[in-house]
Amino acid sequence: MSNAILTNLVTALAGKSIKVVDLTQPLHPKTPILALPEEFASSPGFSIETISEYDDRGPAWYWNKFACGEHTGTHFDAPIHWVTGKDHENNATDTIPVERFIGPAYVIDIVAEVEKDEDFLLTPAYIENWEKTHGKIAKDSWVLVRSGWSKRKDPKEFLNAREDGSHSPGFHPDAPTFLAEQRDVLGIGVETVGTDAGQAHTLDPMFPCHALMHGANKFGLASLTNLDQLPPTGAVVIAPPLKIVRGSGSPLRVLALVPSA
Ligand code: MN
Repeated sequence: MSNAILTNLVTALAGKSIKVVDLTQPLHPKTPILALPEEFASSPGFSIETISEYDDRGPAWYWNKFACGEHTGTHFDAPIHWVTGKDHENNATDTIPVERFIGPAYVIDIVAEVEKDEDFLLTPAYIENWEKTHGKIAKDSWVLVRSGWSKRKDPKEFLNAREDGSHSPGFHPDAPTFLAEQRDVLGIGVETVGTDAGQAHTLDPMFPCHALMHGANKFGLASLTNLDQLPPTGAVVIAPPLKIVRGSGSPLRVLALVPSA
């Protein structure tokens, strides 16, 4: 038995009337990682070592072993990642219902604002104004913030650290609750190294996106790229993390299905 929607989908993919856009950054030893203050344990970067490559160690096969923190490169943040989300049911990478990894994408463009102010914070008022043009953000959707930050190819410029910490855009403390409660989204996605602004340690609450989104059992996607290839509405995002048992997140491949112009 076939289903017309799935048959139409594969036909559209084959005929390229639906494109697949890769929202993932390459994962390699130079992938930038978040630096924490010295008093906290830090996450290692990505490392990779060859096990064999058609040689004495394995004449017909090539494979590697790799290591990294769960929150490295383009990655998923599960609610269990933050203390505010630790008591939700099904809050880890292995227990989140898989339906919740797929949803329509709403892409909010803040490139012009970030060019003027690299610490720009997205507010509920900004989102509501955006909705006047593009329509109300639907329940169970991904809200992706296109800041242009992924164009920063030099890790130093990407992290943009100064004496007082990193400077990069993020969410105003009122925005996560608005998106979680008023819009009931799946989660949010950003181009920066983490879902919170570089200066989020100075906000109240600290790291509002982590504290409030995960507190509301919502997800995060960090270090996305190619958001400029997505329309403001109409794309579908597929973002399943690795099924790490009790994982707080994982690097992942994030794909968007996008109607051709
Ligand atoms: Mn993370």
